[in-house]
Amino acid sequence: MGENVLIKNVFYLSPELEVKKGDILIENGVFSQLGDVKKDKTGYTIDGKGFAAVPGFVNAHTHSSMTLFRGFAEDMPLMEWLEKKIWPLEKKLKPKHIYYGTKLACIEMLKSGCTAFNDMYFQVDQIAKAVEECKIRACISSAFFDFFNPDILEDSIKRVEKDLKLLSNRDLIIPAIGPHAPYTVSIEGLNTSMELARESNALVHFHLAETEKEVVEFKKNNGKSLIQALDEIGFLNDRLIAAHCIWLNDEEIEILAKRRVNVAHCPISNAKLCSGIFRYPEMINKGVNVCLGTDGAASNNTLSILEEMKFAALIQKVHRSMPEFGAEIVFKSATENGYRALKLKGGKIREGYVADFSLYDLNTVSFCPNHSLLADIVYSASNSVVYTFVNGKAVIENGFFMGDKDLELKIIESVKKVAKELVSE
Ligand SMILES: [Zn+2]
Repeated sequence: MGENVLIKNVFYLSPELEVKKGDILIENGVFSQLGDVKKDKTGYTIDGKGFAAVPGFVNAHTHSSMTLFRGFAEDMPLMEWLEKKIWPLEKKLKPKHIYYGTKLACIEMLKSGCTAFNDMYFQVDQIAKAVEECKIRACISSAFFDFFNPDILEDSIKRVEKDLKLLSNRDLIIPAIGPHAPYTVSIEGLNTSMELARESNALVHFHLAETEKEVVEFKKNNGKSLIQALDEIGFLNDRLIAAHCIWLNDEEIEILAKRRVNVAHCPISNAKLCSGIFRYPEMINKGVNVCLGTDGAASNNTLSILEEMKFAALIQKVHRSMPEFGAEIVFKSATENGYRALKLKGGKIREGYVADFSLYDLNTVSFCPNHSLLADIVYSASNSVVYTFVNGKAVIENGFFMGDKDLELKIIESVKKVAKELVSE
């Protein structure tokens, strides 16, 4: 479990989103004492003066290796973007691409206050290797497609079973299955993946109702709505993290709430690919556990939940004429709701919760004059993360990965090299 950490005299955001000041003691990877800590026998002490401790964010939907595609295919609609640019490039991906792409993603997330993420991609051994080297928390799902072909389904299930074993019993990794989407996986494939997840106590990560076309075509081909079909096979439950969920009516949102489905809202990707605008107020009012995700860097183009929170609030304000839709809602989505989806006691600076958090430098332009810590975090914080702790261990120190600027630069150089090779091959 490693050494204990004491942060002295620091501002922190309480579970009620109030600013408190005191000491934070971390033992065995969890917050063990807040306030006036008398203990002096700790391994690692930080003077918290000038910092604010804020719970870590969960990036609830991403494809981390797609950092290699950042800026590669721009200003296109979703299907054309996938078919002409993304899928042909993905066919060329080798293990080293997945490894370096994920590694860059982990560092980018940690540096923007993200302590856990929910990933869907291929070659999960490489993803797990990068995640463990970066000491970030990750729910890793092995992506699969069956393209409505029983033979492909059989092969995919064999691979997924193998991947689940590979991802099990590892410290910061939560195993999951990633049936891609309703337009690439059959109902039978979805049913099998949920059964498999139940048997192995894994989570399920899925793209749902991202475009209007997907929902309309499903109904045309199956004679019933997508949500109805998924509900009939028991696919909708609290094991599921469903990304996007844009094209749903009131009744369907109610079903998601009743079945305790976790929804990963990705507003920047949805806007960039013209997919639509999420019904955030309805989701919250009906009690859906809404989390925030960036989606892959090819459609965002960052993996920053700080940016995602701001955009999520702004787009609802302007689209719905709801100025009151704001910081508190999106912050809770990014923190405690994300941890709830991952079935972890986290997302709050509270005794007994996992010590996943960041220290932000209050002596920066973004936090000046700091009338409201919550407003500054959601609307102005950027490049202000000095420390990020995951499971009580400092992974970003003094603003750099492992506190080592040269190491970070070396990784960036390696990523540039493999990314260039990939597009020129
Ligand atoms: Zn996605």
